Amino acid sequence: MPTRVLPEKSEVTIIGGGIVGVTIAHELAKRGEEVTVIEKRFIGSGSTFRCGTGIRQQFNDEANVQTMKRSVELWKKYSEEYGFSFEQSGYLFLLYDDDEVETFKRNIAIQNRFGVPTRLITPEEAKEIVPLLDISEVVAASWNPTDGKASPFQSTAAFALHAEEFGAKLVEYTEVKDFIVENGEIKGLKTNRGKIKTGTVINATNAWAKLINAMAGIRAIPIEPYKHQAVITQPIKRGSVKPMVISFKYGHAYLTQTAHGGVIGGVGYELGPTYDLNPTYEFMREVSYYFTKIIPALRELLILRTWAGYYAKTPDSNPAIGKIEELSDYYIAAGFSGHGFMMAPAVAEMVADLITKGKTDLPAWWYDPYRFERGELRGQALQMG
Ligand SMILES: Cc1cc2nc3c(=O)[nH]c(=O)nc-3n(C[C@H](O)[C@H](O)[C@H](O)COP(=O)(O)OP(=O)(O)OC[C@H]3O[C@@H](n4cnc5c(N)ncnc54)[C@H](O)[C@@H]3O)c2cc1C
Repeated sequence: MPTRVLPEKSEVTIIGGGIVGVTIAHELAKRGEEVTVIEKRFIGSGSTFRCGTGIRQQFNDEANVQTMKRSVELWKKYSEEYGFSFEQSGYLFLLYDDDEVETFKRNIAIQNRFGVPTRLITPEEAKEIVPLLDISEVVAASWNPTDGKASPFQSTAAFALHAEEFGAKLVEYTEVKDFIVENGEIKGLKTNRGKIKTGTVINATNAWAKLINAMAGIRAIPIEPYKHQAVITQPIKRGSVKPMVISFKYGHAYLTQTAHGGVIGGVGYELGPTYDLNPTYEFMREVSYYFTKIIPALRELLILRTWAGYYAKTPDSNPAIGKIEELSDYYIAAGFSGHGFMMAPAVAEMVADLITKGKTDLPAWWYDPYRFERGELRGQALQMG
């Protein structure tokens, strides 16, 4: 069980108890490291419990495809070992014109090169997968049946529980307020519940990452919080919308059905940078309009709940992951730009490799936190919502 008692010391301390902090703690503890997670509210309370559940390998560059291929392997492995639900029910991108088809053909070629079995299918095949779809304007679809979704609640709780079994400490309702640094070396952290001695710190606070960096006196790594909202409808017949359905034409919308039967999703209605999380009427109007363009039958449903969370965005929509050289030993894994839930298991492996071995087989170089100041931005990662 998470505690409110801060240990006196910990070899590694992770700031932030979202899926990223918790999976890194799990991986490090599994490798025998002494690790503590400090979370200012409760585990998952940041963006993790507000996410859209989606997990996909359909990206538009090699690094993200490789990372997500590994992540999906880990989602599968741990869901089987720990008994949380990870459904490989696919991602279906609806395409509406030749330009979109050409772009997705290029993406599919990259994905296939790494063994991700995405293929272009006809509108009729798309309708066989989701019979409720309006395909009157659809010219093709990009379909990968091995993409999927998982419950953020179940999965985060399972990783947290097993991290604790491996010896990790999870400390809730404790806010990191400052770093204790001597001659460029981290000696500890100050919190609202006292100090902890520590040598290695990982900033896994995503939307708050720049505030933690500022405490550490680190030059700007551009990560800004943007408000994104989501809805869930009343339940419909199970199996009605198995995959995550995406339509860039209709509002950058994404939607799927949860295990409880409701349709969950959002659109690309972004506000910020801001820490405000009040839901807005404009979002509700857009989501209702776009969702019913994709699946007209959704107009019969009531929206039960709407909420907001953060996309912690970088200028190229790729996260910043790696060691920060100005301070020993300080690492960052933040700025996931709407992809942090799906990437977490692979990111955990990547960060644990960097800490325990100093290198990783995963493409960490792509997420180099210094690329911004060098002006070497990556291509925009495929983002929806
Ligand atoms: C509407 C919506 C839909 C989304 N859909 C998807 C999706 O389908 N798939 C996907 O992969 N991603 C999705 N995302 C993005 C996903 O939610 C995030 O990328 C992911 O949750 C990031 O996890 P994290 O652990 O890095 O951050 P968080 O879960 O935000 O955790 C960071 C934690 O740090 C804590 N913290 C901050 N400051 C301090 C401090 N000073 N001291 C201690 N603790 C601190 C916070 O309280 C917070 O709990 C979506 C996001 C939103 C808002």
